[in-house]
Amino acid sequence: MTIRQSNGSRDKSLDPGQALLRRLPGVDRLLFEMADDPLFSGAPKSVLTTAIRNVLENRRRIIRSGAASKSSPESTTAKDSLAHDRIIADIRIAVASAMAENLRHTVNATGVVVHTNLGRSLLPESAIRHILEIANGYSNLEFNLARGKRGLRYELVEDIICEVSGAPAAMVVNNNAGAVLLCLDTVAKGREVIVSRGELVEIGGAFRIPDVMAKSGAHLIEVGSTNRTHPKDYRQAICDQTGLLLKVHTSNYGIVGFTSSVSLRELVEIGAESGLPVMEDLGSGTFIDFSRYGLAKEPTVQESVAAGADIVTFSGDKLLGGPQAGIILGKPEIIGEIRKNPFTRALRIDKLTLAALESTLRLFRDEKEAVAAIPTLEMLTCSIDTIKTRAQALFRFLAPLEKKGAHVSLVESSSRAGGGSMPLLSLPTVCVGMSIDTMSAAGIDERMRGGTPAVVGRIEDDLYLMDVRTIRPGEAEIISRVFESLCR
Ligand SMILES: *Cc1c(COP(=O)(O)O)cnc(C)c1O
Repeated sequence: MTIRQSNGSRDKSLDPGQALLRRLPGVDRLLFEMADDPLFSGAPKSVLTTAIRNVLENRRRIIRSGAASKSSPESTTAKDSLAHDRIIADIRIAVASAMAENLRHTVNATGVVVHTNLGRSLLPESAIRHILEIANGYSNLEFNLARGKRGLRYELVEDIICEVSGAPAAMVVNNNAGAVLLCLDTVAKGREVIVSRGELVEIGGAFRIPDVMAKSGAHLIEVGSTNRTHPKDYRQAICDQTGLLLKVHTSNYGIVGFTSSVSLRELVEIGAESGLPVMEDLGSGTFIDFSRYGLAKEPTVQESVAAGADIVTFSGDKLLGGPQAGIILGKPEIIGEIRKNPFTRALRIDKLTLAALESTLRLFRDEKEAVAAIPTLEMLTCSIDTIKTRAQALFRFLAPLEKKGAHVSLVESSSRAGGGSMPLLSLPTVCVGMSIDTMSAAGIDERMRGGTPAVVGRIEDDLYLMDVRTIRPGEAEIISRVFESLCR
């Protein structure tokens, strides 16, 4: 082992960095200076102090590394870092970033409609109004106004869910992952649950059917093969330990080619033969048949209910286009059992979500209205002509930036449904391509993401693209403003 000697022999008075470090302004002096600056007036002193300390600390690091690595004591980076207006400018940026909310408006120019990382579904206006109303006052959240007694929050949406789905009873929780866990725990804890090998889905963010099963205390019994599962596979696996037959919608992938799966209807028949309940995890549940709009066929909630499933679960914020929620439909006895499960309390839906969910669900009474008012549905079913018109409008809006060194173009491409739905579908779309002579596509992407609001597009063939399918009305101004700031 060798022990390296510390650099104690170096004469401090000769250290070129020390002189520069001493020239850095102090925290108090900077605070005093900023007291008169209107740009800092809204920020609390603690925020200012932290911003100043961070900027000064960063300067010290630059000076130390500059002094250590350069032979010339007055290295440019180290000296530049002392420029007073630059210090103030950096403090301004640090304060602005500390004062801005972390969760912020982000323009989705990716063309992925149900983008889980960008918040999945945008709410219809009626849902937003309802959230504001409920957030603003007390409500009958758990109070039955007619009887003047305690009520159940789930009952507020049960009637509308049953009306649009045809289910006899319903219940809602925080999200679909919670719904699946709760149902398995209630119906099949300590028992075997039979699932096809072709349906052992993993959803992004560590939701895997086998893992959820393990957490719920149910035992997974896999049947069939990855591409083919037959009714006899289920029948042979059923024994006195079996508690449930589970079908999982393979929402985020497709198995094509030599395939065969057991339909929900067949599974319900098999369940009836042996007196076993049948559950379907629909994932991206939808009340409307997308194949009628020229999109991929996704099983509808009504079809699953009509096929006789004892339990059906799905998300509120995927193809339904509402808030994050897990919706459970089922036979009244089973829903009753689920309500008694203590997990229900841990997974309960909050009142603002409930408000948004109720308003969104009401729109499905009239499919035309739902498709027009629910942004997710509007963006998915939008015609290519409308997309073209929007792309041309955005193109014209950005065209003046050509004078500042930008190039704007129209590019035909394809969008995706996202959110683990319609995985094989690509929707024809038109994108606006943007490039700048002095910047790479990756550079543009990074700067657009750093904008306020942030803009997230995509890169194809080395060109930065913005898919107009998911750009909302009024966002062209934001895009233009952020993009203009890169052009200089
Ligand atoms: C998305 C999905 C889930 C999880 O739903 P969340 O609402 O995101 O919790 C579960 N199962 C399937 C099949 C899904 O597609």
